[in-house]
Amino acid sequence: MHEVTEREKLDVEALNELFEKEQPGKIVQWSAAEFGEELMMTSSFGDQAAVLIHMAVRVKPDIRVVFVDTGYLFPETHRFMEALRRRLNLRIWAYRTVNDPVAYLHQAGEENHTWRKDINACCAANKNDPMERAMMELRPRAWLRGIRRQQAETRKQAAFIEWSSRYGCYAISPLLNWTSRDVGSYMKEHDLPYHPLVEKGYLSIGCNPLSCTRPAQIGEDAREGRWAGTGKLECGINSLDSAGL
Ligand code: SF4
Repeated sequence: MHEVTEREKLDVEALNELFEKEQPGKIVQWSAAEFGEELMMTSSFGDQAAVLIHMAVRVKPDIRVVFVDTGYLFPETHRFMEALRRRLNLRIWAYRTVNDPVAYLHQAGEENHTWRKDINACCAANKNDPMERAMMELRPRAWLRGIRRQQAETRKQAAFIEWSSRYGCYAISPLLNWTSRDVGSYMKEHDLPYHPLVEKGYLSIGCNPLSCTRPAQIGEDAREGRWAGTGKLECGINSLDSAGL
């Protein structure tokens, strides 16, 4: 039976009811007040990453920003991260894959660096492994993440605050109810930059093989440009339990 520990004692049902009617900035503010030094956030430094980071550093300037580097990211992502780091004075904790990116492809029998035959194995080794290492080492009690319900079917059922048995912490998703338009308005209001690949048609930006990220097509959800044609919409790091990984 699942044992409720001191780390997991909040009434998430009541909080979720409140948060459904609350603005994201207020949820971030509440998180900083509730969890203090035990709060961290993740960012992929993707298309709209600046929004949640900006909200977080306004209330907690020294928040730990965990960035998972698979070894296969776009150079533009690294440059975008550096630009935001300088502008917002970020404390970025980069967790890298333990694999040498070229050696991994050889070992895994991946002959084409622009395409992955076994996406699940590559995500497990190069994305989920560093993320789990980050959570084990940093041991946050709460983790802010930028997922939105509008992005994909897999995100529609998410709640604002959920307990993650996999990571042993609360996952808090302040932007859940925001639309792309809401995000755009916030970016405009605060003069925040999009990832540079957005102007080339990318709506969701992950790793650089074409099997993993391609520009979105008309009428698609943002996440449909990821692992297109495979039915996969998530790399796995946002899974709150280990089932199905
Ligand atoms: S998104 Fe693609 S390149 Fe990145 S870890 Fe997953 S399979 Fe590997």
